[in-house]
Amino acid sequence: MGDLWVIGEPGPDGGLARLSAEVATLARELGASSGRDVVGVVVAAEPGAAADELARHVPRVLSITEPAAADHAWSALAAARLAGLLDGAAPAEAPDAIFVGAGPDGRDLAGALSALTGLGVLTSATAVTWSETGPAVEMSAFGGKLLPTSGFTGGRGIVTVRPNVVTAVPAGSPGTVEARDAGGPAPPAVKVVERVSEAGAAAPIEEARIIVAGGRGVGGPEGFGLVEQLASVLDGAVGATRAAVDSGWIGYSQQIGQTGKIVKPELYLALGISGAIQHKVGMQTAGSIVAVNRDPDAPIAEFADLLVVGDLFEVGTALLEQLRARPG
Ligand SMILES: Cc1cc2nc3c(=O)[nH]c(=O)nc-3n(C[C@H](O)[C@H](O)[C@H](O)COP(=O)(O)OP(=O)(O)OC[C@H]3O[C@@H](n4cnc5c(N)ncnc54)[C@H](O)[C@@H]3O)c2cc1C
Repeated sequence: MGDLWVIGEPGPDGGLARLSAEVATLARELGASSGRDVVGVVVAAEPGAAADELARHVPRVLSITEPAAADHAWSALAAARLAGLLDGAAPAEAPDAIFVGAGPDGRDLAGALSALTGLGVLTSATAVTWSETGPAVEMSAFGGKLLPTSGFTGGRGIVTVRPNVVTAVPAGSPGTVEARDAGGPAPPAVKVVERVSEAGAAAPIEEARIIVAGGRGVGGPEGFGLVEQLASVLDGAVGATRAAVDSGWIGYSQQIGQTGKIVKPELYLALGISGAIQHKVGMQTAGSIVAVNRDPDAPIAEFADLLVVGDLFEVGTALLEQLRARPG
């Protein structure tokens, strides 16, 4: 019986990316249900901090120092080192499944690792369970209208996991970290020449506890002023539908849905959003969904916890006043 591997991506601060902590939690649950050991793997120029953090979630972490990762594309380097690790692994150590986050780097890594090893990839899992034949991976198709469950021919492969599918929870006791030399093929030298941060980007909406989102109903870029004020007073982030983004009222980085981001805040306040399936798939796992819409029959009424039927500017402004009047 093989192990389950979790790839720990280094975050921008050198610690563990939040998504990797979520994936590690999922792998730990699968390890417990399938009776398999779970092993984390971190490849980075300075893997120490990310490896230590990953060890809070899984019992054993392999830490691989790859100096070139400081100024080269991480995904290609990490894929080459993982291929080396797999090549050198004893049969008993070979993993039955390799889990990585379905962020931009994780998706790149999965593709490169698949090409190097011949393992198949199941992408953007929305849930994973363990079946008799290996991982059973649920994925969203046709904008969430279908949720097919797939497995690997031969039972082994790579799974990329969408953000916010599980909540990251550390294990009861921390695991160990072992330094490893991986070897592997020489990776393509994809040098990073510049890193560009989006100007004025707020806290990432994937990590926000509260999101106030605006749709076509806000009517224009000035309508997002109210959305932003509500987000600010609630200490939350601003989200948007594709209709609002495509109209140029707000940046793509705030788009939520099938072709945007998947979020899981505690509270999702939707202003002037109809609740199309392509938007719903990005926010349906929010703790509470409160919608303001002047149409009582808007599709969002079917899945919101609370629908306030009314004009969003009247309701939103009254709410803003109430929130601002809160003591201290
Ligand atoms: C392949 C594909 C991918 C897509 N990906 C995404 C995606 O990632 N994210 C996404 O969001 N969409 C996506 N879409 C688009 C999606 O189908 C919808 O068109 C979009 O979500 C609608 O946005 P909306 O709710 O803002 O606009 P609308 O559907 O036009 O809804 C506006 C709502 O505002 C209400 N309203 C208007 N004025 C007011 C007011 N003054 N007060 C209160 N309520 C008011 C209306 O009653 C209406 O319900 C995708 C579509 C396709 C085909």
